[in-house]
Amino acid sequence: MVAQVIDGKAFAATVRGQVADHVARLKEEHGITPGLAVVLVGEDPASQVYVRSKGKQTVEVGMNSYEHKLDADTSEAELLALIDKLNNDPAVHGILVQLPLPKHLNEDLVINAIDPAKDVDGFHISNVGLLGTGQKSMVPCTPLGCLMMLRDHHGSLSGMDAVVIGRSNIVGKPMAQLLLGDSCTVTIAHSRTRNLPEVVRRADIVVAAVGRPEMVQGDWIKEGATVIDVGINRIERDGKKVLVGDVHYESAAAVAGAITPVPGGVGPMTIACLLANTLTACCRSHGLPEPE
Ligand code: NDP
Repeated sequence: MVAQVIDGKAFAATVRGQVADHVARLKEEHGITPGLAVVLVGEDPASQVYVRSKGKQTVEVGMNSYEHKLDADTSEAELLALIDKLNNDPAVHGILVQLPLPKHLNEDLVINAIDPAKDVDGFHISNVGLLGTGQKSMVPCTPLGCLMMLRDHHGSLSGMDAVVIGRSNIVGKPMAQLLLGDSCTVTIAHSRTRNLPEVVRRADIVVAAVGRPEMVQGDWIKEGATVIDVGINRIERDGKKVLVGDVHYESAAAVAGAITPVPGGVGPMTIACLLANTLTACCRSHGLPEPE
């Protein structure tokens, strides 16, 4: 079997197009322009790339982008004061604090200072609780993008065996909640899981969010399974810097029914979902119908 490639880049372009259409209608019919504020503390090179890309795509769909770049030695009080200002700014509908933060800043404290209604990353404890109890919330962008690709490919996910590798708060745990919400039978694997290849072999759906280049091998995959590779790993191969996922693509694609590539899979969907969440937050704050 040769796997169907799930084209996240094309899917993300479609989502961005839908967001742009909705934003245009909001402006025309209600005079409202959604606004996204992105806060970057320090000079982490990968974070700088993400923030630039988020700002560019925000403007491309017709939203306002507010970038706040703070020095690496910014104090917690200064950062909290900025968040408070953004929470109270009616032009700002979504707030994203780019992670990781420098070590001297308490990430939990900072994230939980964001107004949950503007928490477009879905990391605030209130949104985590709402998602966990199946209530309307802000859903973390990366797992949301994965879910959208899975629904698009399969239609219903009901009854499928899903294995999520990784239990981080930003990917693994919310991914598992979303799959459970779609009635999958969910296993969350992590670094202490015994006999991981055997666990993965049971899965109709495998989501790899580990941060280890090409760890998941083709012979771990059940024939015909759908493989979602969240990993973004920068490695050097034959003297060149390349981007690879957490899945060994060639061997997995030979067995899987469908697979997301890296790059061009989960990555583009993450930013598209951030824009969709900002639009949703804007509609909710004005009591307007939410996008589908
Ligand atoms: P974390 O480092 O926070 O979590 C990694 C998880 O993988 C942990 O739960 C860890 O287990 C588990 N793990 C580590 N080693 C193994 C192993 N040998 N076997 C089984 N499980 C293992 O990473 P993130 O969740 O933040 O990110 C995961 C990957 O996804 C990274 O490559 C990251 O770059 C990428 N990413 C991509 C995004 C995108 O937009 N495409 C967005 C966010 C992340 P334990 O808890 O036991 O330590």
